[in-house]
Amino acid sequence: MRANYHTHCDYCDGRASAAEMAAAAAAAGYSILGFSSHCPLPFPADGNMELSRLGEYRDEIRALGRDWAERGLEVLYGLEIDYIEVQCSPRDAVFAEAGLDFSIGSVHYIDLPGSGRFAVDYDGEEVARWLSLYSGGKDAGRAFYEAYYENLARLIEPGGFDILGHFDLVRKNNGARPDGRGRYFDESSAGYLDAAFAAARLLKGTDIVAEINVGGMARGKVSSPYPILPILKELRSLGVRITFSADAHAPGHLGAHLEDARELARAAGYDSVAILTRGSWTETGIDET
Ligand SMILES: [Zn+2]
Ligand SMILES: [Zn+2]
Repeated sequence: MRANYHTHCDYCDGRASAAEMAAAAAAAGYSILGFSSHCPLPFPADGNMELSRLGEYRDEIRALGRDWAERGLEVLYGLEIDYIEVQCSPRDAVFAEAGLDFSIGSVHYIDLPGSGRFAVDYDGEEVARWLSLYSGGKDAGRAFYEAYYENLARLIEPGGFDILGHFDLVRKNNGARPDGRGRYFDESSAGYLDAAFAAARLLKGTDIVAEINVGGMARGKVSSPYPILPILKELRSLGVRITFSADAHAPGHLGAHLEDARELARAAGYDSVAILTRGSWTETGIDET
């Protein structure tokens, strides 16, 4: 059963309409498609939906669901919800009251002394500029990943969402070589992995599903899925379930890099992925995806 719960469309920074994304999913062999537009934020943000459009979005996704139900595609209404300290969380009333079928919890924004608030997945040169302004006294690369994983921990601990988005998004602009050394930090270093594993441990015993996310690959930003193998192995040892996410921003992203996701899952010891269908979670074999 092929499913994807991480789909953007023109309500946020996706490059196609929801109807175009649904048609592309059906053509690529999906039987479940979850829409997860970037949630409204309490400050202006280009890539996020405006709060005034939330009702329209819900109605459009629900209508698509009715259209596609007889044609073998289950369409789900969800959001990718940011955790931004004080400002936004999956536990905010606006999201609890939205009647979502599911939600993804993600950290995109961090706040560093001197740099201020910025999105870790923004354009690479912008991120470099913000990090050059860092004045907190640590190595800037270390401050960068520590702040990211501290926010991830604050997102995970109280829960209130179904899927954890792109576990190690902080490496998107790191441009690491196969040995792990990157522009800002070494992804194979004990310091880096300790920070990531501390956040991972908070998933143990929860119902939160982690992603193998190929969105960064589809857009040419990273050469392997999120997360890297050592982190995925840690998730596996903690008993955390996984889902394959296209993080699709265009029709062509649906169905892309699935074999990369399967290969990484197998390498970490997974043989099944979690599937949300008709309101409950089940498992399907990796070879059925
Ligand atoms: Zn995201
Ligand atoms: Zn996304």
